[in-house]
Amino acid sequence: MANMKIKKGDQVRVISGKEAGKSAKVIRVDTEKRRVVLERLNIMKKHTKPNPKTNPQGGVIEREAAIDASNVMLVCPACGQPTRVGYRLIDGGGKVRTCRRSSCGKDIDKA
Ligand SMILES: [Zn+2]
Repeated sequence: MANMKIKKGDQVRVISGKEAGKSAKVIRVDTEKRRVVLERLNIMKKHTKPNPKTNPQGGVIEREAAIDASNVMLVCPACGQPTRVGYRLIDGGGKVRTCRRSSCGKDIDKA
């Protein structure tokens, strides 16, 4: 399975679709389907039937719907710009994500 460059807790910029241009925090990642759920974006209304235990009234609930991970770009915490993601190997094994903007190039993850 291909590696996901976006992780839970990342700040991302939406680059296409109805929420294009907005930034949000990633609250869930589905690596299998390569989709991400963004805080307070792409809200879908869902009609529910009353359920005596969890939802006695029934009605409409709003929740964030997943969007394709290819529709978002990671926002670099160092320069604050959306960027493609690179990788850098670190001492002792493992790797960290890096900002691929030539004016920045900083690590995105803590080494
Ligand atoms: Zn950067």
